[in-house]
Amino acid sequence: MIVPLIKGLSLTLKHFFSKPITIQYPEEKFECYPGFRGLHRLRTDEDGRAKCVACQLCATVCPSGCIHIEVVEDDELGRYAKRYEIDLARCIFCGFCVEACPVGAIVMTPKYELADYSREAMQYDKGMLLRK
Ligand code: SF4
Ligand code: SF4
Repeated sequence: MIVPLIKGLSLTLKHFFSKPITIQYPEEKFECYPGFRGLHRLRTDEDGRAKCVACQLCATVCPSGCIHIEVVEDDELGRYAKRYEIDLARCIFCGFCVEACPVGAIVMTPKYELADYSREAMQYDKGMLLRK
């Protein structure tokens, strides 16, 4: 009976003197771990063009169905995504889209402050995803 009590008290005492893990958000920011899955970003090539080849694998694999792509075949530009949108209100940040992409066109950044006041504001289009 007394042994578990002493164990419990010693644990409390140990944590009493250790550095607190609470941070004063939003003044202090959370430091993301490597591999943290935050906001998506579409990558560009050396000419500044979106790397996405509009294969739609990311949209196919997405368990939330929150990626919407409009594919265009152009004689000059080839196949590309005219419209590329992610509905962040539905995204579960699983990272499957990143893993499925054959050309590394989409990555996830450490950006995590994504709350907003409307569903419309959570719709990220191609321009927004390229800028992030
Ligand atoms: S992170 Fe997951 S849920 Fe979000 S867009 Fe990618 S595949 Fe879909
Ligand atoms: S998987 Fe990659 S290349 Fe294919 S549509 Fe998605 S982002 Fe574009």
